[in-house]
Amino acid sequence: MTISNLEEIKCPQGHLFEASLLSAISVAGNPELKEALIAGEINLLSCPVCGEMFYAECFILYHDSENELIAFVYPLSFQEQAAQCKTKMKKEFDLALANFEDKRKINYEPILLFGIEDLVLLLRSEQNIEDEESILKYIAPKLSLKIVKISPSLSRKLGIPKLLPMPKDLKELDAKALTDSLQTLIKYNPNLLHYCELLEKISKRRINVSDIK
Ligand SMILES: [Zn+2]
Repeated sequence: MTISNLEEIKCPQGHLFEASLLSAISVAGNPELKEALIAGEINLLSCPVCGEMFYAECFILYHDSENELIAFVYPLSFQEQAAQCKTKMKKEFDLALANFEDKRKINYEPILLFGIEDLVLLLRSEQNIEDEESILKYIAPKLSLKIVKISPSLSRKLGIPKLLPMPKDLKELDAKALTDSLQTLIKYNPNLLHYCELLEKISKRRINVSDIK
């Protein structure tokens, strides 16, 4: 559900005007909305008096069910009260979950952000990973690799792609198989920076394969 409210806004120069702001954004089945957000077009206003462009600060609840992402985005000015915001988020999330019909669908924690720009940055960085995942999908068959998918919320927590390469004939992923597959992949395309990073994390044991499963 996407909700917009008409609000009274003050531009950085102090001019008052009314504009419609999004306060709840659900991008499931609405890729255009996600694209607009990534492009930085959501809640971006132009003052009718002085013409200055700025992001209107308001609370936004962002939900992408497909990517297991719920973000509570507070205005930037709330950053000093981060602890209180976190407590409030937790309370509201638990309350919403209690009223949610199908609890099985949300088994991940919400993320706390300050300012819509932080949400935009997060979505852009995930978009970069998705671009690399598309390349993996394309080249995996050429390299006799198959793809394992881990949950989006786990991949976000670990800061790694959610699509991982593994040898075609293998049933279960282990550290050696993942390392070998990543090396094969990177040898073929050294520009897959997130996969290079994953390989480094595994070789330095900052991530164990048991964390991924
Ligand atoms: Zn103005």
